[in-house]
Amino acid sequence: MTSQETDIQQGWRLVAASVLVLTTAMGLVAPEVVNLAALPGWQGLVLRWAISLVVAAGLLLPMVLGCSQRSLHAVRAQRERAEARLRYIARHDRLTDLRNRDRLLGLMAERLEAGECLDLVVVDLDRFKPINDLHGHKAGDRLLCAVADRIRALCGPADLPFRLDGGKFAMLIAANGTRAEHLATALSASLARPFDMPNRTAQLGCRIGIARSGPGLAPADIVQNAEDAMHKARATAGAICVRYDLALRDMLREKASFEADLREAIAHNRIVPYFQPIYAIDGRAIVGFEVLSRWLHPVRGFVPPDRFIALAEDLGLLDRLSDQVLRRACAAMARLDRRLDMSFNISPSQFGNPMLPGRIKAILDEHGIAPAQLEIEITEHAVVSDVEQARHIIAELIGLGIRISLDDFGTGQSSLATLSQFPFQKLKIDRSFIASVDSSPQNAKIVSGVLALAASLNMNVTAEGIESEGELEFLRAHACGLGQGYLFSRPLPEAEFELLVSMTGQATAPAAVPVTVPLHRKTG
Ligand code: C2E
Ligand code: MG
Ligand code: MG
Repeated sequence: MTSQETDIQQGWRLVAASVLVLTTAMGLVAPEVVNLAALPGWQGLVLRWAISLVVAAGLLLPMVLGCSQRSLHAVRAQRERAEARLRYIARHDRLTDLRNRDRLLGLMAERLEAGECLDLVVVDLDRFKPINDLHGHKAGDRLLCAVADRIRALCGPADLPFRLDGGKFAMLIAANGTRAEHLATALSASLARPFDMPNRTAQLGCRIGIARSGPGLAPADIVQNAEDAMHKARATAGAICVRYDLALRDMLREKASFEADLREAIAHNRIVPYFQPIYAIDGRAIVGFEVLSRWLHPVRGFVPPDRFIALAEDLGLLDRLSDQVLRRACAAMARLDRRLDMSFNISPSQFGNPMLPGRIKAILDEHGIAPAQLEIEITEHAVVSDVEQARHIIAELIGLGIRISLDDFGTGQSSLATLSQFPFQKLKIDRSFIASVDSSPQNAKIVSGVLALAASLNMNVTAEGIESEGELEFLRAHACGLGQGYLFSRPLPEAEFELLVSMTGQATAPAAVPVTVPLHRKTG
């Protein structure tokens, strides 16, 4: 009850008591004062009745007030119970009855304010989502309740368990040496034990992140740090529990700054195509080139595509980056004084976008490049994740007159099956097989086998990563049609590639490449 409500209640009590006293006094004193007996017959009667009515009302009023006070009290108690219930619901997870994320933040704020040092342990379940999807939400709910019970069972009297969301739980404990790590070990052992479900058992696991409170860290920062540590555990093979520390903080800051730089580079069209010539092995003439993306960062220096292509993919920016690079490569190609074929890499994730063929065709049209001059290089991963979608997109690209080649052949898990399922016009033998093919009997057998297979399927072959004359000789002797590699040239920036093309003419031996053309050993 608020103090205002208490004041009002006391006021009403005072009024009721005053009315009671006044009316009693009136009932006793009024007949004497007015001298009722002296009044004529009907006037005395009316006055007597009036006095009796006032006295009766005066006696009844406090009783009525008392009753209404009591019912008010009951309503107020009910409202307070409802409010308390609402407060409870707002702070607890309905399914497991553990405290929720809001309560965690509130409690941490109170305890940090009181000067306590805390450790937060965040636990994220492994394999929960497939069980939920496969066996239904009821089974998933039951499993989460069982997990909550196991977490509760490990809590000491001062430890607090929480459910943050989905399959993510937490424990808030007073910081005490490595106790959080010991709890984490016990937690992961407990959650690794099978869970009984109707007609089956479920096997879960977990990843755990630990973060400690510290100067200037708000509750939300500590939760974020523990979650970052948990993600680090998830990303590290064999790791179950990681504590957030300065090294992890620096790594995450560097990752965030790398991401911001990449976003900016893509926004300002700063990733450029480099061009690696592809040679006809017999005759050594440049017949085409592969476009390879390059990011020359003013401070980071040369960033290889292996580092930024996958990240651009994660950031949902790969389509944009790919279009930018293809557009610039087409512009450069249109400026060449010779007709060459262009090979362009498309990542597996881009194959999920049905707009891909249309976008590529529009860019070719912008620069007047014939689709027959373009070859799209894809790896096996592009076709194994969604075979039907890949079949559709490949058919559409081929329908436009664009050729498709299978890149990094031999490195996938089912290269032969992939080869038989899709109409590839060319395959590129991965450079791991070309390396020392002239001296490694193993590689020699694989490469000659692949060349024979491609010949029987009427497919062209490019050997990737030719670095020595010996490798080149082997490939020539086994009738490999095309090759690229450092022996011929590293990937070159546009101006140097143009120079190479104009200076080398139609038939150029690698040894005859003018020494004035830089080989870009550092940046290629
Ligand atoms: P990839 O398509 O297999 O490209 C061949 C890679 O081998 C290139 O690496 C090239 O520089 C390198 N290479 C060529 N000849 C030799 C050699 O003789 N020795 C050695 N050791 N390496 C050689 P790079 O440029 O670092 O590209 C790596 C991968 O990144 C590419 O592999 C490709 O899958 C991907 N990539 C590059 N640019 C793009 C792009 O614009 N879009 C997409 N989606 N992926 C790209
Ligand atoms: Mg390639
Ligand atoms: Mg390759």
